[in-house]
This record gives sequence, C-alpha cells and structure tokens, in this order.
Amino acid sequence: MSENRGVLVFSEEYDLMLEMIGKGREIAKELQTELAVALVGSNVQKKASELIKYGADKVFLVDNPALERFQAERYLSVLHNLAVDYKPDILLIGSTKNGKALAARLATRLETGCIPDCTRLSVDKKGRLIGERITYGGNAIARVTFRSRPQIVTIPAKVFEKLEPRDRNGEITKLDVKIEDPQTEIVETKPLETSSRNIEEAEIVVSCGRGLEKKDDKILLERLAEILNAQVGNTRPLAEDRKWFTEWVGLSGHKVKPKLYIACGLSGIIQHVAGIRDSKIIVAINSDPEAPIFEVADYGVVGDLYDILPALTEALRKQLS
Ligand SMILES: Cc1cc2nc3c(=O)[nH]c(=O)nc-3n(C[C@H](O)[C@H](O)[C@H](O)COP(=O)(O)OP(=O)(O)OC[C@H]3O[C@@H](n4cnc5c(N)ncnc54)[C@H](O)[C@@H]3O)c2cc1C
Repeated sequence: MSENRGVLVFSEEYDLMLEMIGKGREIAKELQTELAVALVGSNVQKKASELIKYGADKVFLVDNPALERFQAERYLSVLHNLAVDYKPDILLIGSTKNGKALAARLATRLETGCIPDCTRLSVDKKGRLIGERITYGGNAIARVTFRSRPQIVTIPAKVFEKLEPRDRNGEITKLDVKIEDPQTEIVETKPLETSSRNIEEAEIVVSCGRGLEKKDDKILLERLAEILNAQVGNTRPLAEDRKWFTEWVGLSGHKVKPKLYIACGLSGIIQHVAGIRDSKIIVAINSDPEAPIFEVADYGVVGDLYDILPALTEALRKQLS
C-alpha cells in the first residue's frame, strides 16, 4: 500500500491551474483525499486565498524573486521538494511547454511515470488514475495508468472547467525551499511573432484551409472575423507549406474551444478535428459534400467559400449594424 496521499496541482499559467483545481476537486472527492495547490513564483502570495475559493484545501506557497521567470531547474527543485515532503498520490501539471518540460524532469527524478496531454481523467476500482490521451496522429485514444507513485499527468488548457469561486476554508502554508541554480542562462528573450495570439481563448474562430487559393484571400476571413469579433485560424498546410500563417489549429497546433467555429474550405481531417472537437458549434463551408468536416459539423453549407463568405459577411453586417 502506497504512503502517498492527496492530489497536488501546479501550473505557471493561472487560469489553467484553476481549471485543474476544478478536475482535481472531483478526483480528490472520489478518492476521499485532499486537494493541494503549489503556488510558485514571485509576488504570487496575493493569489493564495483565491485558490481556496476555487476549490483547494491547501495551498503551498513558494514566493521567491528567483522564481520570477520560469526556469525548469528552479521550478523542478521546488516541485521535487514538495513531492518528497508532501508525498502526493497524484500530481496534475499544466501542459504548457514549460509544464511538460517540468513534468518529465520531475517524473525522472522521482522515478515514476508521467502521462502527457491527458484530455480525460478517471479513477479505477483500485484507486489508480486513468489518463486518456489522443494518440496515433489523432486516430486513437490511449487509456494509460500507473504502476508507480506519484502519478504525474499533464493537462492542456481548456480541457476542464474551473469551478465557481465561493467562500471555503483552507490552509495556506508558506514554504522556504532551497532553489537550485540553473545550469543554463537566458541570454535574450523576444516576443514570439504569431498569427494566432489568444486563439485558444477566442469565443468565435473563423478558420480556413487549402480551399483558400491565395494569401490575399485571407481578407475574406478577416472581414467576417471583424464583424463577429472572432479570431482567424487555419489548417497546418497553410502555415507549414504555404507560410501564410505562423501557427495552426489541430492536434499538433492550438486546441480551441470556442462557442462557434466556422470552418471554411478545410477538409476536416482527424488531425485538424482533434484541435476543434471541444467547440460548442461547428459550421462547415465546403464545396465537396463528401468532405469529412460535415461529419463533425452541426451546420453545413455545401458551396464555394468565395461566394458564401462575402454574402455571409454582408448579411451579418446588415443584421448587426
Ligand atoms: C502528425 C500530423 C499532425 C498534423 N497536425 C495537424 C494539425 O494540427 N492541424 C491541421 O490542420 N493539420 C494537421 N496535419 C495535416 C492534416 O493531416 C491535413 O493534411 C490537413 O489538416 C488538411 O488541411 P486542409 O483541410 O486545409 O486541406 P485539404 O485536406 O486539401 O482540404 C481542402 C478542402 O477545401 C475544400 N475546398 C476547396 N476549394 C473550396 C472552395 N472554393 N470553397 C469551399 N471549399 C473548398 C475541399 O473540398 C477540401 O475539403 C497533421 C498531419 C500529420 C501527419
């Protein structure tokens, strides 16, 4: 019988941490254990009580100027110390680039397993965590469990819902952890030039695929997006092959969860759909009635996007003005 107990949540992304607290609360209840959060960073103290309102029973606060910027080794020393002292049964880590680097290092140091990018979590009859993740290029879902403790999983943004905050009792423990000096030094940082900033947060996304004939035709999408206050997205070939965008939506790109996803001239191959399946409503515009996107769309328009997009934009302009 393992001596590990409790669920511990960490992410350097605050909203993602709240979403994981939402799911962590459910798991902790099922396992009749407690939910703790590692609040790590510089000047983060003021957020501690809020985490309790969102569902944490305990907050371990590690507030140190050395932690202002994420550096894997520094954060690793904090999480490793915490994992050794607190001995969580389950560790939920946000699946950001930083979070994934941290989770892998932590699992190695603790000689345990790690399931990255889980889109579903459950607990089996033996109390083991089951993580589900998309695999084989989006063609299958793997269900994975653990033979070791702690059970470490990483969770992408927008997979779970945060709870409504409410007044609850909880415990905040301030920890003074020895922070390792990193082996690397950051020489320079530059903002990333991106075509899809905040697309994962967008409420409406208007996306295009290879049905778009030339780069300048992006304007058709941009006009519609402007009226709907939407973000413009795209498939991977438009970014990787044609270089019209810097990023894309899908399995290997951004995962979106908008209220409305308008897919224009894109076929809806599984690798793209893997990034949009959490959209509330999908509208597809495609000239091929057999296009796979119609299988996942709530509404479908069979037709030429060069006719439909200007007409739709005009109709909405009249409606909304
Ligand atoms: C490991 C791996 C990971 C991948 N990850 C991703 C990913 O994250 N995201 C992603 O998008 N792709 C990804 N891909 C690529 C993916 O497999 C598809 O190749 C890609 O999504 C297809 O892009 P598309 O729909 O733009 O193009 P196509 O499949 O060529 O589809 C174009 C569509 O436009 C329609 N069309 C053409 N002209 C018009 C018109 N005038 N009006 C209306 N409709 C029209 C056609 O009927 C067709 O359905 C990945 C591939 C691999 C192997």
